[in-house]
Amino acid sequence: MVEQLQGAGIKDLAVLHAFDQVPRHLFVPERFAARAYTDEAFPLGHGQTISKPSTHALYLQALNLDGDERVLEIGTGSGYQTALLATLAEHVYSIERVPKLAEAARARIESLGFTNVAVRASDGTYGWRAYSPFDAILVTAGALKMPKPLLEQLRPGGRMLIPIGDSESQQLHRIEKTAEEEIEDTVIGQVRFVPLRGLGGHDETERRAGE
Ligand code: SAH
Repeated sequence: MVEQLQGAGIKDLAVLHAFDQVPRHLFVPERFAARAYTDEAFPLGHGQTISKPSTHALYLQALNLDGDERVLEIGTGSGYQTALLATLAEHVYSIERVPKLAEAARARIESLGFTNVAVRASDGTYGWRAYSPFDAILVTAGALKMPKPLLEQLRPGGRMLIPIGDSESQQLHRIEKTAEEEIEDTVIGQVRFVPLRGLGGHDETERRAGE
């Protein structure tokens, strides 16, 4: 898999090393285990998807982690990216809206012996204030707009990756909050994720439409 990722333009050695440390076949549904080391996304159940390894690699490379960061992840899903992050950062806080997915991800991560990860089942558009501010925040579901609490919980000097667009396709934004608390926003790619739900996500629009 590392060679495939190199072929896809991933050069960061720490990121490539992370893929060597986390067995992806434990994170995909059993019927896909034989294809776990190909660059494919798979359905996880509950209408959700484990992303392609090259998408995770794009995120991890863009986050440029040194190992001493406190990271917030929204959209735990299978927990695969959470485990990759655990090898690259000091502590990972991950939020998943579907309780069954959160539970399964937590169990997989614990069984691999990671002790620097906390997974919570809730609406991630509110962030996780108790552990803020975060050096890095990543959202792995497609948002209609930026949820404000996430921007507030980003440390000055920190960075955030968030796909923003409609449910068909999104632009991946890399947001930097400068030491002076100014926001620099760069689009680094085009992606396609399942929708970010919750009150700061797609459900707000649904709720408004129903009012
Ligand atoms: N990184 C994950 C991607 C999972 S897909 C993986 O590769 O396995 C996106 C996930 O975001 C889904 O599991 C979905 O349930 C979750 N999600 C959607 N809206 C959310 C919200 N508001 N808060 C937390 N999780 C959310």
